[in-house]
Amino acid sequence: MVDLALTAEQQEMRDLARDFARREIRPVAAEYDRSGEIPWPVLEKANAIGLLSWGLPEAYGGGGVPGGLVGVANFVVMEELAWGCAGIATAIGSSVYAAGPILAFGTEEQRRRFIPRFCDPDAVRLGALCVTEPQGGSDVGAMRTTFRRDGDEYVLDGTKCFITNGGIADLHIVFAVDRPGAGWGAWLRSSSSATTPA
Ligand SMILES: Cc1cc2nc3c(=O)[nH]c(=O)nc-3n(C[C@H](O)[C@H](O)[C@H](O)COP(=O)(O)OP(=O)(O)OC[C@H]3O[C@@H](n4cnc5c(N)ncnc54)[C@H](O)[C@@H]3O)c2cc1C
Repeated sequence: MVDLALTAEQQEMRDLARDFARREIRPVAAEYDRSGEIPWPVLEKANAIGLLSWGLPEAYGGGGVPGGLVGVANFVVMEELAWGCAGIATAIGSSVYAAGPILAFGTEEQRRRFIPRFCDPDAVRLGALCVTEPQGGSDVGAMRTTFRRDGDEYVLDGTKCFITNGGIADLHIVFAVDRPGAGWGAWLRSSSSATTPA
């Protein structure tokens, strides 16, 4: 039989997130909706108690909660934060999302260089995962944003949209292809090579 009960650690995370949503998010959510401002004070408080980096490995300064981005704890925490405000919850969770490709495809040098910046309790540094484009989001095989190498740099050319923390993030992870229209195969090859440059 499958045991679906939350572990003690998952319950602790859920309670922390629920308490944070009740005290810090819900009271201000409507006002941020109206003003359209970035909720920096909320993000700073969330960061101070580790909510921006709890899903990142301890080796890079994160909370090391098992499963990280795809673990049960992530869904439990995000559900509680989204009860406070879906938009603020997404902003809080985005650094862990942005770190995902670096952890999955990056070199160890890149992980040590980029991941710890999300794990500083004294400074909010947001991540942004840039996949969606005006013509589509889930169909990454149709992606049009291109990259090309120019000396020691990569040049990106394209348009992204609906990017959580886009433009205000400390680090943007941009998905791009070298041959638009080549379908899934091109995307898989490009996404692994695009993480290679420093
Ligand atoms: C609050 C919010 C925050 C977001 N944050 C981010 C972010 O940080 N970064 C980011 O990159 N994006 C972000 N997005 C965008 C989100 O990831 C996309 O909206 C999502 O991937 C779906 O893409 P789409 O809206 O273009 O829908 P589509 O991709 O156009 O999909 C619409 C429908 O078409 C279907 N479909 C898609 N492709 C095919 C196909 N080839 N064949 C048959 N059916 C297909 C899908 O299953 C779906 O039912 C955010 C969106 C929201 C609402």
